[in-house]
Amino acid sequence: MTARQSKPVIDSVQLAESNTQAMIELRSVVKKFSNAAGEFTVLKGVDLTIKSGEFVSIVGKSGSGKSTLLNMVTGIDHPTEGNVVVHGTDIYTGVTESQRSRWRGKNLGIVFQFFQLLPMLTLLENVMLPMDYVDMYDFDERPARAMDLLKLVGLEKFANKLPVLVSTGQQQLAAIARAMACDPPLLVADEPTGNLDSRSADTIIELFQGFVSQGKTIVMVTHDPSLTSRTHRNIIISDGELIDETVSKSLPQLRHRHMLEFTKIVHEKIYQPHATIISRNESVDYFFMIRKGEVDVVLQDKKKKDYVLSRLQAGEFFGEIELLRGGKSIANVRAGEHPVEVLSVPRQEFLRVINESPITADAIGRIVQKRLEEKKIADQRTAGR
Ligand code: ADP
Ligand code: MG
Repeated sequence: MTARQSKPVIDSVQLAESNTQAMIELRSVVKKFSNAAGEFTVLKGVDLTIKSGEFVSIVGKSGSGKSTLLNMVTGIDHPTEGNVVVHGTDIYTGVTESQRSRWRGKNLGIVFQFFQLLPMLTLLENVMLPMDYVDMYDFDERPARAMDLLKLVGLEKFANKLPVLVSTGQQQLAAIARAMACDPPLLVADEPTGNLDSRSADTIIELFQGFVSQGKTIVMVTHDPSLTSRTHRNIIISDGELIDETVSKSLPQLRHRHMLEFTKIVHEKIYQPHATIISRNESVDYFFMIRKGEVDVVLQDKKKKDYVLSRLQAGEFFGEIELLRGGKSIANVRAGEHPVEVLSVPRQEFLRVINESPITADAIGRIVQKRLEEKKIADQRTAGR
């Protein structure tokens, strides 16, 4: 055992590689199912890139296509159209089912909501199973490696128990140990905490965060908003289509169908450093969300000297004050030190959706109030200058 311990049970992934490589790329993925009623499109042309080392959560209403999307990545099911590249392999082009199955065993850990441990095998035997299947690690090494994995998830005392004799939280921990058996660079989890109490859920997220800090990539479907805030990125799927992440970050209270509407109508625009986006005293025709970079809201003091009232970041918005209250712009809004990418929604569309969405209207109203107060204080402060 001691000789082996120099090699960690979970290998760190090279970071230099993780900065540049995409771990998952879906291009125009369509998935249709046929039943008695006819054909039914579940994924409607999904484009998605997940970089190596990212911890990504996926949310969406029941039936929106989350599991179907994961099944495209794992190769459990296959797309009707489009391409899926995972860890450098185009997994559906010129690959047989059995090749894909072996590839999956070596490259992917999969965790399901209902654990799916084999009931007649002990936890230790369950964890050894993937190593046997793809014939990784020396035969003699496997039990010790499986034990190390169980130790990692805090189950070494239960190694020789059958799944039915441990709690549901512990069964899921064993399933995670099994998923990591062949030290895959990518872990895919479909509602891994959906059947667990919040304490067990917490343990699992901490474990996942540990894997991510070692360079693993994790994609996790979840219903739990307290978990999505602990991942790097949150992706929302609505009726088989992905919502633009800038839209969902800027307006998190919007209903998914409204987010999707905005996703389809937004225009992307890039401004060079210090370029004007909105001019003072001109009318404002768009609602803006910041995708990348920083934006300065600039006022003038009594001597007509510019000063920056506030600096807005990616995931924040502007233009709402004028659109909601009418009238000309109260400030200059310009790009910061670096190029800025913004998404714009035309006034009419913005107002219509806000009218249909009282929670978002409230949230935006509070931000308007706060910004106007900041402006008032700044006006008072500079009045004497
Ligand atoms: P989610 O995981 O978001 O709840 P799913 O991806 O499981 O949603 O399912 C999306 C839709 O696709 C659902 O309407 C579901 O009934 C349908 N669907 C999923 N798998 C199949 C299948 N094998 N055959 C037919 N329809 C399916
Ligand atoms: Mg599902």
